[in-house]
Amino acid sequence: MDHFLYRDGRLMAEDVALDDIAAAVGTPVYVYSAKTLLRHYGLFAQALEGLDHLICFSVKSLSNLAILSLLAREGAGMDVVSGGEYARARAAGVPGERIVFSGVGKTREEMRLALEGGIRQFNLESEPEMRALSEVASGMGVVAPVTVRVNPDVDARTHAKISTGKSENKFGIPIRKAREVYAEAAALPGLEVVGIDVHIGSQLIELGPFEQAYRKVADLTATLRADGHDIRRLDLGGGLGIPYTRSNEVPPLPLDYGALIKRTVGDLGVEVQIEPGRLIAGNSGVLLSRVIYVKEGEGRDFLILDGAMNDLVRPAMYDAWHDIVPVAEPAAGGATRDFDVVGPICESGDTFARARPLPELAAGDLVAFRSAGAYGAVMASEYNSRPLVPEVLVSGDHFAVIRQRPTYEELIARDSIPEWL
Ligand SMILES: *Cc1c(COP(=O)(O)O)cnc(C)c1O
Repeated sequence: MDHFLYRDGRLMAEDVALDDIAAAVGTPVYVYSAKTLLRHYGLFAQALEGLDHLICFSVKSLSNLAILSLLAREGAGMDVVSGGEYARARAAGVPGERIVFSGVGKTREEMRLALEGGIRQFNLESEPEMRALSEVASGMGVVAPVTVRVNPDVDARTHAKISTGKSENKFGIPIRKAREVYAEAAALPGLEVVGIDVHIGSQLIELGPFEQAYRKVADLTATLRADGHDIRRLDLGGGLGIPYTRSNEVPPLPLDYGALIKRTVGDLGVEVQIEPGRLIAGNSGVLLSRVIYVKEGEGRDFLILDGAMNDLVRPAMYDAWHDIVPVAEPAAGGATRDFDVVGPICESGDTFARARPLPELAAGDLVAFRSAGAYGAVMASEYNSRPLVPEVLVSGDHFAVIRQRPTYEELIARDSIPEWL
C-alpha cells in the first residue's frame, strides 16, 4: 500500500497534489512519500519483532540524505557499498555502529574511511579483500569486525542482472569453501569474525530461494561454531520483491518473510540483520514527467515525455515494467489508446513502454511512473547533458525539494579546459 492516490481528480502524494509539485519544481522530478517509506520500514520491524535484529536500509536503492535521515530517526541501520554511501550515511546522522559495509571491491581508502569513522561490520567477499582489510586495520592499530559473504549457490529466479547467489556470480565466496576462509580470517591479526553474511539477489518474488539460502546459513553457523568461531550475527541480505504492476507478480509479504527468518535461524541465538532496499523505497516514489509531444507514427503513436532513460534507466536496463498513470484522473471506463512511451534521448533504448494502453493524453499533460522510488534517482545520469533529475519529499500536506535541479551553469562548471589547450 502506498500514499499516491487520486483525490478530486488529481493524483496526490499524501496530501499534496502532484501537479502543484510539477508547477513549483518543474519536471521531470522524483517525488517520495515519507509516510509510505515509514510504513514499509515498519512492516519489516513488525515482521522481525521478538528477534534481536537490525534493519539496515540498502543505501544504493535510494541514497538521498533526507531519506536516510528519515529512516535513521526510526532506528534504521544502513547497508553501504561505497565510500560515498558511507559518507552519506554518516552525513545523515547514522552512527558508525549501525553501518554495514558490503560490496565486492572495497578499496583500502574506503576501508580506512569506515574504520576511522566507525563501522558495525565489513561483509567480506574474497580472500584478497580479507587480507587487505587486515593490513589496513592493523596499520591503524584497530581490529575490523567482519563477516564473510557466502554464496549459497541458490537460484533466486529473478532477472539475470540482479541475481547474485549462484556460483557463477561474482559475489561472495562459495559456501563449500567457507570453513577454510573463516579459518584464515580468524588467524589474521586485523580482523574479528562476528558472523555470516548472505544476499542472493533482488526483486525476489517467492520465498523458496530465501529458505534454501537461510537453511544453508543455519547449517554453516553450526559448523563454524564447532570450529571455534563466535558466530553471533547473521546478515541475511535484502532482495524481497515488490509488485510493479497490479496484475501479474504477487511477491511475499514482509510478515511471511519474517516468519521464514524466525523458522530458519530464529533458534540460533544470533542477532539478525537484513538489508532491504527496494521494498522500503520502491513504491514510496514516483517519477513525475510531462508530455512534450504526441507523435502519430505509422502504425504506432508515441508519447514523447520530458523524462528519459537518464532519469529512470530500469526499463532500458532491466526491461522493467512501471505503471504509467495520468496525474489528472481519467474518466472511469473512458477510451484508451496504445502508446509507445519514450523520452527525448537519441537512443532507441530510451523507451519506457511499448504499445501501452493509456487514456487519451495531450502535450502538456502530466504522467507519473509508479514504483520508481528504488533504483530510480540513484541510477540517474546527465547523459545528453540533461541536468540531474531533482527529488522532492512529501510529508502530509507539505513538501520540500531534497535535491535541486542543477542549472546549465552548474552542469558545465564541473568541466575544465586545460590551460595548455
Ligand atoms: C542491492 C543489495 C541489497 C538490497 O537489495 P533490494 O533488492 O533492494 O532489497 C542488499 N544487500 C546487498 C549486499 C545488495 O547488494
